Amino acid sequence: MTGAPGKPHRQQACDGAPAVARALLPVRDAFDRIMAALTPLRAVESVPIHRVAGRVAASDVHASRSLPPFDASAMDGFGLHAADAERRPPFWLDVVGLVRASGTPSLKLAPGQAVRLMTGARVPRGVAQVVMQEHCRIEGDRVEIGALSDRRSDIRRSGEDLKEGELAVAAGTLLDARHILLLAPLGYGQVVVRRRVRVAVLSTGDELVEPGRSLAAGDIFDVNRPLLCALLAAPCVEIIDAGRVRDDRAALRGQLAALARDVDLIVTSGGVSGSAADHLADAVRDGGGACDVFRLALKPGKPMLFGTVAGVPVLGLPGSPRAALVTGTIFARPAIGRIAGLPPRLPTHGAILAAPIARRPGRLEFIPARIRRDAAGHRHALPIPVGALSQLLAWSQADAFIGVPAEAADLPAGHPVRIVMLGGEGYGAASPMHEADWPLSS
Ligand code: AMP
Ligand code: MG
Repeated sequence: MTGAPGKPHRQQACDGAPAVARALLPVRDAFDRIMAALTPLRAVESVPIHRVAGRVAASDVHASRSLPPFDASAMDGFGLHAADAERRPPFWLDVVGLVRASGTPSLKLAPGQAVRLMTGARVPRGVAQVVMQEHCRIEGDRVEIGALSDRRSDIRRSGEDLKEGELAVAAGTLLDARHILLLAPLGYGQVVVRRRVRVAVLSTGDELVEPGRSLAAGDIFDVNRPLLCALLAAPCVEIIDAGRVRDDRAALRGQLAALARDVDLIVTSGGVSGSAADHLADAVRDGGGACDVFRLALKPGKPMLFGTVAGVPVLGLPGSPRAALVTGTIFARPAIGRIAGLPPRLPTHGAILAAPIARRPGRLEFIPARIRRDAAGHRHALPIPVGALSQLLAWSQADAFIGVPAEAADLPAGHPVRIVMLGGEGYGAASPMHEADWPLSS
């Protein structure tokens, strides 16, 4: 499933064959190759409508009945006969009944009569118009109609939103409250959605220690695993915390094989930069799988692996936590979206650079930034200065990454840029907030 088109860009085959080319692989090419190699899940399940938020509709849902299901009063007021609706107010009518939202009226209205209607009440036969109660004065069992209401909005007509059989929600929709607005009144108590994508998150490295434990000299805490578990979490995803594996080819191979029996995607970090301690590619190959090790034209995050073990895709992210955050955002999340049945998107927004950026062309560079909006609603992206020793702080304070195109040199303040928002953006497939997908030139 890997190694599709674009072979000249392949940097290093798993079997250690010499690199075909030393050129860095454009990020967009790697993105397209990975997405093309992934297939959406087929498995579905039925879940209660109270729990469908964030899940992906597995099939088209059609209206099982008309919506609204009957002609209903849009307001508290009085129903009039057509003959009276032509009269000039003010005039008096006999009140012959009351219909609440829950009732089924049996009466039939005649000229000279009015029926009191609550909002949502089924409109009795003979009613041509509803007058809002603010325009009416009641005295005993008579009502004075002081003015007529706007005829277009007084009655919600049966089938006005959807006629029976019409499409309510399309297959592949990432469901949220807006869709429940249709599905619940149609009476769907259960919705068939795609099974959650099972994603294993695995760290590799002899130096890694679980946060909370004590560190020996030379050890560091495992940052990437909790980071990726947080980054990739979503209602349509089931994260499997697959722990850590030492830099040991056989152990790695065994863990990958075990995970492949159980998950839809394996996301690892570390062990792909080509040093003597980097065994991920060999472990994938030992397991009979195929893989490519990319040298991406990306900063941060040059090395990355994509392959399969027993048919299960493996995304090997770089070890540096900043690189894991960037590649997790721009590769792992869209990859999971693709497997979940969503369009493989990297949502981006336009912004105006608020301070100059000095750089050399060559790699697509992600720079942490704060985002502010001006009075006109334009986003301004202020790069956060990344000090040599305080890199994590800068990245952790970012609202977004600025994606500076590979070919760009220094950028002046005021230059238009594309940004990728961080935090809370979800796997959004159809949010109008997203102005474009991947217009970051790679
Ligand atoms: P590697 O490619 O395995 O050599 O990793 C590159 C750098 O990232 C090394 O300095 C590793 O110690 C560091 N690193 C790898 N995995 C993690 C992790 N899970 N948490 C924090 N740092 C890591
Ligand atoms: Mg390592």
